[in-house]
Amino acid sequence: MFEKITANWLSFGILFLLILLAVLLLWRTRRPHLQKQPRKDIMPGFTLIYADQKQSGKKSEGFGKLLYSAKYDLQGKPDYIFKKRLGSAIVPVELKSGAIKDAPLPHPGDLLQLAAYFLLLEDIYGKRPSYGWLKYSDYMFYVRNTRNLRKEVKQTMADMRKMLEDGEGTPNASFVTCRHCICNGTVCPYGQYHRNGGEV
Ligand code: SF4
Repeated sequence: MFEKITANWLSFGILFLLILLAVLLLWRTRRPHLQKQPRKDIMPGFTLIYADQKQSGKKSEGFGKLLYSAKYDLQGKPDYIFKKRLGSAIVPVELKSGAIKDAPLPHPGDLLQLAAYFLLLEDIYGKRPSYGWLKYSDYMFYVRNTRNLRKEVKQTMADMRKMLEDGEGTPNASFVTCRHCICNGTVCPYGQYHRNGGEV
């Protein structure tokens, strides 16, 4: 009798764990890669552990320091890095002064900059950030650190290094990549969209 009750509880426990696992997997695969929201500047449950500038009147050791990753040969100063109070999650936040208005996606260069910070922080803190925030003056984007994004930024870095070495490169000119680029219509002969609205 006792053995039968124990076996029933064991089967129930295994079933419960399997259901929990299925729900977690579903949640992981359904999570959006990018999500646009009205901008907010609060990070409840997080502590600021780095800023690209010293913070007056606050404990700010290491703030303003140029961060370097030997593994990726990358350096930079993310605007802010937050750490979750419960746990060890690291979240970079990058601020942009302009507005994004109705655009459904962030500017590609801004996205790659945040993706490069994901790599930098992964090496420095020994923990891969699972997401970060790109904040424009009007909206902000939740950006998940996906395998595809990491692949894209590593490929872009490799292309840029090759271009610096041999002086040759293929521009990735398109309406989307060029429309907010400062070089478009000024110094770049490959721009696809002039800022005055004219086609090339
Ligand atoms: S305008 Fe030129 S430099 Fe700027 S994104 Fe387009 S191709 Fe690249």
